[in-house]
Amino acid sequence: MTETAGEPGRPPYHRFRTGEPVSDTRAPDGPVAERWNRRRFEAALVNPANRRGHTVIVVGTGLAGASAGATLAEQGYRVLQFCYSDSPRRAHSIAAQGGINAAKNYRNDGDSVRRLFYDTVKGGDFRARESNVHRLAEISVQIIDQCVAQGVPFAREYGGLLDTRSFGGVQVSRTFYARGQTGQQLLLGAYQALSRQIAAGQVEMHPRTEMLDLVVIDGRARGIVARNLLTGRIDTHLADAVVLATGGYGNVFFLSTNAKNSNATAIWRAHRRGAYFANPCFTQIHPTCIPRSGDHQSKLTLMSESLRNDGRIWVPARAGDTRPPAGIPEAERDYYLERMYPSFGNLVPRDIASRAAKNVCDEGRGVGPGGQGVYLDFADAIARLGRDAVRARYGNLFEMYERITAEDPYRVPMRIYPAIHYTMGGLWVDYDLMTTVPGLFAIGEANFSDHGANRLGASALMQGLADGYFILPATLGDYLARHPGPPVSGIPENHPAIEEAVFAVTDRLYALLSASGDRTPDSFHRELGQLLWDECGMARSEAGLRKALERIPELRAEFWDRVRVPGEGSALNQSLEKANRVSDYLELAELMCLDALHRTESCGGHFRTESQTEDGEARRDDEAFAYAAAWEFTSPGAPPVLHREALAFSDVHPTQRSYA
Ligand SMILES: Cc1cc2nc3c(=O)[nH]c(=O)nc-3n(C[C@H](O)[C@H](O)[C@H](O)COP(=O)(O)OP(=O)(O)OC[C@H]3O[C@@H](n4cnc5c(N)ncnc54)[C@H](O)[C@@H]3O)c2cc1C
Repeated sequence: MTETAGEPGRPPYHRFRTGEPVSDTRAPDGPVAERWNRRRFEAALVNPANRRGHTVIVVGTGLAGASAGATLAEQGYRVLQFCYSDSPRRAHSIAAQGGINAAKNYRNDGDSVRRLFYDTVKGGDFRARESNVHRLAEISVQIIDQCVAQGVPFAREYGGLLDTRSFGGVQVSRTFYARGQTGQQLLLGAYQALSRQIAAGQVEMHPRTEMLDLVVIDGRARGIVARNLLTGRIDTHLADAVVLATGGYGNVFFLSTNAKNSNATAIWRAHRRGAYFANPCFTQIHPTCIPRSGDHQSKLTLMSESLRNDGRIWVPARAGDTRPPAGIPEAERDYYLERMYPSFGNLVPRDIASRAAKNVCDEGRGVGPGGQGVYLDFADAIARLGRDAVRARYGNLFEMYERITAEDPYRVPMRIYPAIHYTMGGLWVDYDLMTTVPGLFAIGEANFSDHGANRLGASALMQGLADGYFILPATLGDYLARHPGPPVSGIPENHPAIEEAVFAVTDRLYALLSASGDRTPDSFHRELGQLLWDECGMARSEAGLRKALERIPELRAEFWDRVRVPGEGSALNQSLEKANRVSDYLELAELMCLDALHRTESCGGHFRTESQTEDGEARRDDEAFAYAAAWEFTSPGAPPVLHREALAFSDVHPTQRSYA
């Protein structure tokens, strides 16, 4: 069936076809709290002696990939692992600052696995799978034990227990942290486990190597085509299963808090080979980032959400008030989050805090250059706790802020504004984390994850490590046990599927190198990013999405006509890498806008201006949209096929989210 997103009779790129519903057949029935135990018990096992006969490719060495590679190798599988950076430990995960959630309840403040489950389903605005989220909450406690055993230096209290702090959308203190470097410390733990296996010869590490295509043989993922970034050499690597742990696609917006190299190529090329892409329009905008300072900026900087534990957010009560913050008396300030959401105050979830910041700036009450900022003020915290205590908690973040803005946040409130930060959408996976291509798994931010339409802070690290250390190592074995052979050694090098994938990669690189245009890949990326930010960012309207859907195919055509990539393919060529990634963004962006256009409800980070309550809050439409949208690729520029996965809520009843 062909459906039209928005107004009927519009050009073809606003159309999509509807396919059969997709369902997760891997999660067992029965009480949600027992499903993971049952699944593990029912999973077929690979005899330890037989594991060394299996090869697994893991693309990515962030928290998800490093933990998966290390654990699979420890189990006895032969692992081929890839990353584009010079060292596995330079993955984007290293940037994570604030912390990792776990339902340990060390504080005895009412936390439990059930509460973490509840908070996550509600925080995701009831667009995540209950069975996955419950499993995540269960595993959260094991993650902390595993990391402590590895020596991850979590912050501790005087009594010796691990310390915790609060993140948005919850009323307990369950976020474990290592100062403002939690991702770095966790990654060092996973990296050291991976290094042990590299040294043991169980993991063959390929740094500076970028996966550019997936090899599918007889309907199963059997390998990848990758380019050595230093020599330009294109190679095929074969395996019994392929795991993508390649992170999120936030950089499609050009300006984001993600590492500059993070990109969508691996998951997008897998999508083109048959893996459904779920909820591409569910992107997260983080409320506390350093505001943009000019047109030539190429990166935005996050100020961790943990700062909202002690910092108070405010703007002048009156529009157009340009007095410096110290000159605005208390009575003339609006601590708008505390006023609007007294129960959660400054710790409302990210989507709500971001929209509120946008609204006060739209009212003319924003601060700083262009009025695109709100204050995050530590004066009360410093008065209450003392400067040293504040420094002990957030010192490195304050230092980073001062280096970038030349303002001292101990004396002057920080200025912050929302920015793109995380993508809840990604490759559709079943309960076993397998995509719709048998043998292809996706973990960490690369999959469409457990966070529904909005991720709670400190839950991405939890999910990445749950996937890599605990879930994938159990479910991948089941797949391998049930799909024996043919062995990798039995696949001829000139298999037509391999030759076709290598041709597709080389052909695309050749097309990029031979286009003798006049525009840099960056100029296209910047234009695309601005369009997405304007029309598919914090607020989305039918008219805006339509405009974007008309412009993106034009921009894509212009790209192939006018892009200029200097240098050659047979050496290090960062312009070529960039152009290749931008070519994928130009396809992904269209799917994001189509997904956003077809979902005429608001939920979580997806705010359709046509669907809001009288108070300006997101209005969900559970009747029509309680599903995950899993998109199937057809051919370039042709309407994709939508497969709906209905979401059932047996344990957490969907309600209008309230944080008041
Ligand atoms: C500034 C910042 C702070 C954050 N702070 C927190 C926090 O405090 N708590 C929290 O829970 N979350 C936080 N997040 C989110 C979290 O950091 C990420 O979601 C998470 O680290 C993603 O991990 P990952 O393993 O899935 O992917 P990544 O860490 O992004 O790793 C991707 C890996 O894949 C490789 N790769 C990608 N494509 C290819 C390819 N084509 N070929 C070969 N290799 C490839 C890369 O080299 C890399 O090794 C933060 C995010 C940002 C941007």
